[in-house]
Amino acid sequence: MSTVAPFLSHLNPSQRRAVEHFCGPLLVVAGAGSGKTRALTYRVANLIRYHHVDPANILAVTFTNKAAKEMKERIERLFSQQVAEDEYGKPLSALPEREQVQLRSRVYKTYVKDLWVGTFHALCARILRFDIDKYKDDRGNTWTKQFSIFDESDAQTLVKSIVTGDLNLDSKTFEPRSVRYAISNAKNRGLSPEEFQQDQPNYRGRVIADVYGRYITKLAENNALDFDDLLLIPVRLFQQNESILGYWHHRFRHVLVDEYQDTNRTQYDLIRLLVTNGEPARTYGNWNQRSAFVVGDVDQSIYSFRAADFTILMEFQHDFGDGLDDKETQTLVKLEENYRSTENILQMANALIQNNSQRIDKVLRPTRGTGESIICHRADDEIAEAQYVVGQIRAMEQEHPDLNWRDFAILYRTNAQSRAFEEVLVQWAVPYSVVGGLRFYDRKEVKDILAYLRMVVNPCDTVSLLRIINTPRRGIGKTTIDRLVNAAQELNLPLWEVLVDEGLVKTYGGRSARGLTTFAQQLQQWQAVADDLPASALVQRVMEESGYVQDLISQGTDEADDRRKNLDELRNAALQFEDENEDAGLLTFLGSASLASDADSKDDLSNRVSLMTLHSSKGLEFPVVFLVGLEQGLFPNYRSMDDPAALEEERRLCYVGITRAQEQLFITHANARRLWGSREPAVPSLFLNELPQELVLGQLPHAGRRQRPPAPSRSAASSATRSPKTRPPARPAAPPHNWQVGEKVLHRAFGVGQITHVFGSGDKQSIAVRFPGSIGQKVLDPKLAPLDRL
Ligand code: ATP
Ligand code: MG
Repeated sequence: MSTVAPFLSHLNPSQRRAVEHFCGPLLVVAGAGSGKTRALTYRVANLIRYHHVDPANILAVTFTNKAAKEMKERIERLFSQQVAEDEYGKPLSALPEREQVQLRSRVYKTYVKDLWVGTFHALCARILRFDIDKYKDDRGNTWTKQFSIFDESDAQTLVKSIVTGDLNLDSKTFEPRSVRYAISNAKNRGLSPEEFQQDQPNYRGRVIADVYGRYITKLAENNALDFDDLLLIPVRLFQQNESILGYWHHRFRHVLVDEYQDTNRTQYDLIRLLVTNGEPARTYGNWNQRSAFVVGDVDQSIYSFRAADFTILMEFQHDFGDGLDDKETQTLVKLEENYRSTENILQMANALIQNNSQRIDKVLRPTRGTGESIICHRADDEIAEAQYVVGQIRAMEQEHPDLNWRDFAILYRTNAQSRAFEEVLVQWAVPYSVVGGLRFYDRKEVKDILAYLRMVVNPCDTVSLLRIINTPRRGIGKTTIDRLVNAAQELNLPLWEVLVDEGLVKTYGGRSARGLTTFAQQLQQWQAVADDLPASALVQRVMEESGYVQDLISQGTDEADDRRKNLDELRNAALQFEDENEDAGLLTFLGSASLASDADSKDDLSNRVSLMTLHSSKGLEFPVVFLVGLEQGLFPNYRSMDDPAALEEERRLCYVGITRAQEQLFITHANARRLWGSREPAVPSLFLNELPQELVLGQLPHAGRRQRPPAPSRSAASSATRSPKTRPPARPAAPPHNWQVGEKVLHRAFGVGQITHVFGSGDKQSIAVRFPGSIGQKVLDPKLAPLDRL
């Protein structure tokens, strides 16, 4: 076996230094596309192959499950090449196919299988599958290893059952989504329901505090955790129990984190506890055979709304490196070459991000040619924008033989923007996939079957039980279910215990008693075989024996047919999971289904145009990128427009978008847009003003060059108040009105509303107005909108 890693020749000297670093803390900071993720992957490979680190001693945290999977595949490929060279003296591809397969499978077992690579959530779920039974929260709640993971919709179902069931309140006033959001916020700030209650001056806040307390109890009764708990509980468990922390600290000698700029405090705590065994990071000095390696880019920090905090990255050296001598050189590597994008694209990205004040300036040298100019296009409205984009994609795909559909991405600020693009893509029969649309695992039929499976492993999961008790219909009505739920509450038993007690079912089940008993017996049969069957076989049995598939067949509609296909796909997912994972029991399969994230659904094998939000595009790259909807209030989002820190985050998001492009970048905006139901004139994004015209083909709408109708006059406005229909279409110029938050206005289409935000000043002013009912909040340009003061 050779002693120098030939694969290190695929790296530049700085990357190599990062990869070859063995013990101690190391921070890699660098701009987009400079090979940070590549360095992290190669480092894992290098630790195993050349430092002989046991793969089981490595923990690598990636941003998506998909990135985790890719990292494993990449390591397997690197090693297989290497082993082929070492053992046969020739490249892998020169071996007969059977030997290739055997070699790769051997490599996988020896070097890859035991690696822990995944998202924070997936890794925490894995730790808790080992140790959650040793944890007790401060209210005395406990969980078993069979716990369910409640995704956002399960969590909201639980909140709703508390609001409408236990507290008998209106779910419109206490919307489950916003209540759940408030609870999540409190949890992440470390507040107990009692502490949260003390902060609440009004009735609504006190009700939310009450729901919060009940929510915690109910989650524990369901033997379930929500996404927040998945991160918080391991941290608390480690703080509570030294020997458990000691075990995991000892196990994970090398911890690596990608996209470290988007780490929040809880995730930081987890990393720090694991690395230092609970000691304060600053005094930690025991780096023998141990490392902490994080990579990130402060300019790409885009998750502050989920409490991510990029100062954690900025403090890394100080934090983990204080105990070291020469910490400057030992704990920091900067990568300064960009391998992804052409020089034009890079210059564009740099020009934009320089407008942020909160950043550390850094060098990013292009390694590729100048490339094509950036194309900026202004469309009439969102439909014309979509037609332009799809037209370009079709033309380029035809003209350039080496461009495939998968090489194009359309990136937007909000999910709602995808609709117009989808319509035109369908019209032109261009294959596409929307990343972060309804996740496969969020579809009703898939969630139903998963709920059956969750009941098989975790019978306390009442949220799942209630989902399937009458799905497919088995004549168990709402009144019966309510009676059973009340009985369970009075007897202080999980609902499941009531169902398996024939006496209780007879008493409370009324005419449905027989149906209930058959249902319970069926679940018990599956529970009895669950440990001995692979997940895919159980999926199959549950789908058929529950009558679910039969019910879909008898519906006979196209929709039912689609649902059946999705269920077949679920079985395929289980089969695939078994292929890819040694430990592929039902429990781990269910865990992976709950944690599949938006960005994971981007399927590389399929040749499709990708549509996704800018947030989902992090870490990815595409030869051709369309950055669409560059308009005030949309991007930057209106909520950020009067908050300088939030505006900087929007700018970072734009930087992320630009730097996804490898060869060609298009930027588009529209004169008017129908969004959230109403058509509004649109003002070009201020980010467009910040881009250098010389890099752009097409006119950037720089301030002052815009063609705008003149501002409305006071007198025209007041005459319109009297009779909106007779308002003269052209309005004479007048000094702009100084709009005030709180002021009431009359809009010709939306009626009376109140100003909630005023953005910018003078000629550049736009305002946000809240209108009653479903119209909601709108961002308007007061010079163009049919608006009068009241
Ligand atoms: P981001 O900040 O967007 O996450 P990154 O810094 O993680 O980007 P990578 O995705 O690792 O960058 O790399 C960007 C591209 O450059 C990839 O296609 C990668 O394969 C390529 N690349 C990285 N390093 C090198 C190198 N030394 N030589 C050639 N290509 C490289
Ligand atoms: Mg990366």
